[in-house]
Amino acid sequence: MRRISLHNVRTRLTLWYVAVLAAVLVIYGGITSAALLLQLRGQLDRLAIEDLETVEGFLSFRPDGGVFLRSDYHDHPYPSEMTQRLMEVWSADGILLFRNALLGGRALGRPPRPEEGAGAYSQRSVKLADGTPVRLVSRRHSVDGRPTVIRIGFSEAPMRQRFHQVVIGLLAGLPLALGLAGFGGYFLAGRALSPIERMARRAHEINADQLSARLDVENPHDELGLLARAFNETLSRLERSFDQLRRFTSDASHELRTPLTALRSVGEVGLRKQGPAEHYREVIASMLEESSRLTRLVDSLLTISRADAGQIRLERAAILVLPFVREVGSFIEVLAEEKQQSLMMEGDETAVVFADRLILRQVLVNLLDNAIKYSHAGGRVSVRVRTVQEAVSIEVQDSGPGIPEAHRDRVFDRFHRVDESRSREGGGTGLGLAIAKWGVEVHGGRLELECPTEGGCVFRAVLPAGVSERVMPLIPERTFRESSGNLQSPRSQ
Ligand code: ADP
Repeated sequence: MRRISLHNVRTRLTLWYVAVLAAVLVIYGGITSAALLLQLRGQLDRLAIEDLETVEGFLSFRPDGGVFLRSDYHDHPYPSEMTQRLMEVWSADGILLFRNALLGGRALGRPPRPEEGAGAYSQRSVKLADGTPVRLVSRRHSVDGRPTVIRIGFSEAPMRQRFHQVVIGLLAGLPLALGLAGFGGYFLAGRALSPIERMARRAHEINADQLSARLDVENPHDELGLLARAFNETLSRLERSFDQLRRFTSDASHELRTPLTALRSVGEVGLRKQGPAEHYREVIASMLEESSRLTRLVDSLLTISRADAGQIRLERAAILVLPFVREVGSFIEVLAEEKQQSLMMEGDETAVVFADRLILRQVLVNLLDNAIKYSHAGGRVSVRVRTVQEAVSIEVQDSGPGIPEAHRDRVFDRFHRVDESRSREGGGTGLGLAIAKWGVEVHGGRLELECPTEGGCVFRAVLPAGVSERVMPLIPERTFRESSGNLQSPRSQ
């Protein structure tokens, strides 16, 4: 059981609930009391009007000029409240003609002004000399043909007493209602929040070794279910990332060990055998070969890890694709010449992409290097540039053995090789296609593989088309960053 503290959502929820309920009850009580007061006053007014209408028919002038209530008035059955009647009759020019005994010398106000009782009735509240509050109704009436003002009043004290009783009753019930609401609210908030506490306890137990654990989703459609599902999805993503990281680290260590072992054994063998200078030269050459393989591998690993860490700053520029392909081709041509392969580059001279030169160069080098490496001597490698609608496609086709169906989806995975020994023989790191795929996707494009039935492979990089040097990228860089997940570049920030 947790302590009651203002830091608890449960306590805060309860307090809010009680505060809102108190405000609602106070407003409701206020409106109800005001309505009650108006109703009671209305009743008093009606009583006074009815009484006035009755009494005025029983008034007559005495010979001395005063007014009196005729005796036949007492024969009528009147409600008991009438016995509480306070009454005055004034002449139109302000002379008091009658004041009943109950008033006992107290006045129902000053002599009437010309406007008093001028309409049907006039009503007002007055206070007698002894402080008694009185509700007063006046009306002008002709008694025996002479104009008079008749005032009938009833004490407001009983009405006020009833009103106060009701208000006190309401106020007395308020703390009780709020107390009950507070207890109820605290209990309900506790029930509503208990799944969150369970989720928090469970989440606390999950650590890096237990990423396969998941939160229980009691109701997948309510808010807490959504929260638990979102948390579980985050865990799944974390688990996948951790798995990838573990696999990558173990693959990378394995890859690093191979050239290092080769380096060491070549050195050991070289040292063990005495021989001519030629022998040592061979040993050193093969050690250098292994070390350059190691360098390539470390460079690729660095690229991949920077890419994964998102340490990337794309430096985009409008690139005329075909001249750029020719430039990269001339750099790599020497490898094709060594294998007597033909290297052909053709296509749309005007195609432009808005891309980072270094990254695009690396994509092309990796694809061309593979095409040359895996094609037999005397084979053909061609690069075709095309503009298709809003995109530019760069196709690298070779006349090599192609890639078996079963491997086509996985060749872009890190360290995946179709033929392990062949890749290593050719100095492959198993990261070339993974880097090329990233390099295309980071520009908002895609890298596709097709293996025609007649043999060979076609790797097609499809990039959004750019327009000219001064034109902004078709898709802003931020969008690429978001759409491509891990933005990666050999150039770190
Ligand atoms: P590697 O450094 O081994 O070439 P890559 O990632 O570049 O690594 O390629 C992954 C694997 O895909 C290669 O080991 C090879 O088996 C296969 N592959 C890539 N390009 C070609 C190609 N043009 N022809 C045939 N197989 C290829």
